[in-house]
Amino acid sequence: MIVVMSPNANSKNIADVITRIEIDGYRAHLSEGEQHTIIGVVGESPTPLREDNYATLAGVSNVVRISEPYKLASRTFHPLDTHVPLNGSKMGENKVLIIAGPCSVESREQIIETACAVKEAGATALRGGAFKPRTSPYSFQGHGEEGLKWMAEAREITGLPIVTEIMDPALVPMVTEYADVLQVGARNMQNFTLLNAVGESQHSVLLKRGMSSTVLDLLMAAEYVLSHGNNRVMLCERGIRTFETATRNTADINAIPVLKQLTHLPVLFDPSHATGKWEYVEALSLAGIAAGADGLIIEVHPDPATAISDGRQSLKPDGFEKLMAKVRRVAEAVGRSA
Ligand code: PEP
Ligand code: MN
Repeated sequence: MIVVMSPNANSKNIADVITRIEIDGYRAHLSEGEQHTIIGVVGESPTPLREDNYATLAGVSNVVRISEPYKLASRTFHPLDTHVPLNGSKMGENKVLIIAGPCSVESREQIIETACAVKEAGATALRGGAFKPRTSPYSFQGHGEEGLKWMAEAREITGLPIVTEIMDPALVPMVTEYADVLQVGARNMQNFTLLNAVGESQHSVLLKRGMSSTVLDLLMAAEYVLSHGNNRVMLCERGIRTFETATRNTADINAIPVLKQLTHLPVLFDPSHATGKWEYVEALSLAGIAAGADGLIIEVHPDPATAISDGRQSLKPDGFEKLMAKVRRVAEAVGRSA
């Protein structure tokens, strides 16, 4: 349930509603908009919620039942788009923001070279994994904190904020020292301990859809982060597993407009993992933007043939530059900028 306060409600009216929610055994989640303050009633309690008990409180304009199991992520709770700040811009606003960089941070030189190239082409942020979730325990697992230090150096040089994956809740304090955005990868989308930890950190989060997760699963995972009062959550469609084997995954382009309708959170698209082949990345990037994605996250490597991970799907810097030019044209065609 959500309690919508009237525009002229004062702070005592809001405090009274919160007190009432707490007396009933629930938690209040405050969302202050330009026009209205909205108070979400979350949690479980043996006391049934009665709309009338709240509708009659001073300063309350409206009480709405949210039927979706995700409450804080739903558009019913928060009708306006949420914007997540990134490098002086905001993900979720009109401008489509592009995050680019290698799959893995391989060396100081590699990440700095890639950062300079993607910055030059117009990227807003730098991606790169220092902790890699690999299918095989024998594959390269990432350079860990050293990799994060190299990324921080690349940020120092280019000004690009860092998006990097976190796999272990215990490492949140260390990774947040370097990262601007914590990426929760597909394999960890339902690692609830991790979701709670990144929620508590109040750091920006890029939450990728699990490869066998439904849109509802993704929204429920986002709800974990949001329930800690951390609203800086971006969702990312990165392809799902289907019977199709021609590509690494199947891009669920549908999920983009579906998510944009169901939630106020920004929605990104990852054409690299969705296809697994660099030659399809451009087409899918354009499709993602045309479908309404607020941003893209794209793998770029200075020499994909020698990449330690995901070289097959990585663009070279010149391919990325060409892609950016087309991205701008498609963004403009659908009333956005890039
Ligand atoms: C990645 O971004 O390199 C990655 C591992 O992505 P995903 O979690 O979507 O597979
Ligand atoms: Mn990758």
